[in-house]
Amino acid sequence: MGIWKAGSIVFTLSKSTRRSVGITVKKDGTVHVRAPFWLSTREVIRMVSSKAAWIEARQKANAKEPVLPSDKAELALLRKEASVKFLDIAAPRVEHFRKKYGVEPKKWTVRIMNTRWGSCSSATGRITLNLKLYFKTDPCIDYVIVHELCHLIHPDHGKGFYALLERELPDWKLRRKELKA
Ligand SMILES: [Zn+2]
Repeated sequence: MGIWKAGSIVFTLSKSTRRSVGITVKKDGTVHVRAPFWLSTREVIRMVSSKAAWIEARQKANAKEPVLPSDKAELALLRKEASVKFLDIAAPRVEHFRKKYGVEPKKWTVRIMNTRWGSCSSATGRITLNLKLYFKTDPCIDYVIVHELCHLIHPDHGKGFYALLERELPDWKLRRKELKA
């Protein structure tokens, strides 16, 4: 293993029997490159340089992503805080869905999810929200909540679902865009 530079990008390089070059940008922004033995370091540097834009974009995205506490007690506290915040935002929406459509979630869960902001089981009436939403703006959190509430009526992402979402939250596309940014 060694430390190398490709332009402004500093990276560690480890060589192994692997057959292709793998570039990983860690959460802390450090760059790790794995390459096959037969590839010269000069060639690796050239490849890393060619991926500079992608690496820098990943570093920027990671810097924006808040780091969740690793301490269990701290994480539990954050989860509690998030639950209060989410339910606070959800309250008027839940009331509205109950009155207008006769549906309401049976249970709310907040946990760390890696690929989704929320989920809804129309069978059990459970809505799960991603703890990471806590770091997003209220309109974004509200969007995810309304999205999941719509699933109480339409479990899939069919035409009916989007018609309902559009009706309940006309600016949902803007909010989704902000959420993804
Ligand atoms: Zn959905």
